[in-house]
Amino acid sequence: MGFSDAVQELLATLPVHVVLELLRQEVCLLCIFRFLNVRDAVYSIDLPTSAEVYSKLLASNEYREEDPKRLKSSEVDASITGEPTCLICLGILQHLHPAVEAQSQAHEAREAFDRNAVSCILKAIKDGGHSLEGTFCLEVSLTALVLLRERGLWCYLKEQFKGEALFSGHDVNDHIVSLKEAVKWSLLERLENALPAKFDVGATLRIALVFKHQGSPEDVKFLAAASTGGDAKRKRHGQHEPESQGFAAVVAARGVTETGETLAAVQRCLASMNNELFMRRYQCPPTKVISACEITAVIWRNPVFVGGRYLKYSRNVSQSRWLIEEERMGQASVQEIIGDVVMPYYKADTYKFHAAGREDIDVRMLGTGRPFIIELLNARKIPSAEEMEKAQLDINGQKEGWVKVKGLRQVGIEVCSLMRQGEVEKQKEYVAVVWLDRPVTQGDFQRLSDMKELEIQQKTPVRVLHRRSPLIRPRTIHWMRCESIKGSGNYFLLHLCTQAGTYIKEFVHGDLGRTYPNVGSLLDCAADILQLDVVDVKMEFE
Ligand SMILES: [Zn+2]
Repeated sequence: MGFSDAVQELLATLPVHVVLELLRQEVCLLCIFRFLNVRDAVYSIDLPTSAEVYSKLLASNEYREEDPKRLKSSEVDASITGEPTCLICLGILQHLHPAVEAQSQAHEAREAFDRNAVSCILKAIKDGGHSLEGTFCLEVSLTALVLLRERGLWCYLKEQFKGEALFSGHDVNDHIVSLKEAVKWSLLERLENALPAKFDVGATLRIALVFKHQGSPEDVKFLAAASTGGDAKRKRHGQHEPESQGFAAVVAARGVTETGETLAAVQRCLASMNNELFMRRYQCPPTKVISACEITAVIWRNPVFVGGRYLKYSRNVSQSRWLIEEERMGQASVQEIIGDVVMPYYKADTYKFHAAGREDIDVRMLGTGRPFIIELLNARKIPSAEEMEKAQLDINGQKEGWVKVKGLRQVGIEVCSLMRQGEVEKQKEYVAVVWLDRPVTQGDFQRLSDMKELEIQQKTPVRVLHRRSPLIRPRTIHWMRCESIKGSGNYFLLHLCTQAGTYIKEFVHGDLGRTYPNVGSLLDCAADILQLDVVDVKMEFE
């Protein structure tokens, strides 16, 4: 049998008696490496089988002289013939590695395929319909059983090899290579070649590899004790692990993983007992296992964002989908007119609409348009810039012509915070049709246009009191400019630029004195507003 140089060299550095003992215990080669604190490269190379390593080590002269009595145990030889499921990783590391596949008989090929992590991921990507854009991120979710079994083996090794410096530490987690790490080292290169795509922690395409195992009776007993409190103090009750919460929730919702609660409870339970106590509660070394872990791959794409500016030409289209008792308000919504066109380009599950502020249903959005973002959830595909141009044409070509968009393109997540900021900080420009209860004069125009940076106090308008708390908000009217309307003595056009968040209708008619000063109070008459358009939302968003 030909061992590669790397494997030969590595084996030569390891304590042979320990390796042999671990092989007899049905610990896989990679777990042996983990417990002997071997790192990095070796996890990704092709390894011989356990049986091959065992007989090779046993045959070495050096070992023969060192410990001749072990040679006699021929029944042990016989037991290490195939590749038994590892009692520590429960087969997890064995099924990432092709040694098992190479040995499979024809009738086992199908099963081996199902248990192989790479083929499992490829199938999940194909079934989910996700396309690859050069990068992916891998997350590994392990069964809590592994924690028990690692601890069990560690306690056993400490007893068995008292003189061995490798096992003199107290906490197993500080002294071995974690299984998660080993899975990533074993798998990443193989996965990068198979997909093909590069691993990148920031990639939007997320792959979760979830390992589940039903456990043996004593494992299950231990887990049950941990999850109902057992010896552990239930600290931080009700809190969840913050790590990649959104994704964890997706995986959990698909019912393929143990809850984070179980894992955390087992960790707490294990931390609360010392090695002596643990050994009384749990068999060390752990019992052999019959079946391997089941693998499930879950594929998900983090949200991607499409931004642009929209124009709204209808006075009967709301910004977001607006239903009152199942009845639609207005003819349509900006959200749906844009989102329903964009979503199919991304083959997303669904989308959310965000905009820098909003106008009322009867207010048009003209001029430069209002910045918006569509957040696409679990997109299967990332369209090209050309396809986004086509999406823009699709929206702008709709025959009703209620809504049009400009500058439609995919944007980064940072635009979301820009949008929230824009909602409160930026200036907005409007044009209103104003009516006075007496004929309009040049003096009125002069009075209004002379006002610069006029501060007004606005109580929450009567019309929004049902959804906003009653407050008094100071707002600034930066400038006003008037334009007469020919043949309409009581009407004029008021152009004005205000601080974001100003209620314009109320500033014109006064809202029963709740906004003060207002156009009526400034001109000493009654004023009302007939029409309002937004003409500019000032924001760096190109
Ligand atoms: Zn293993």
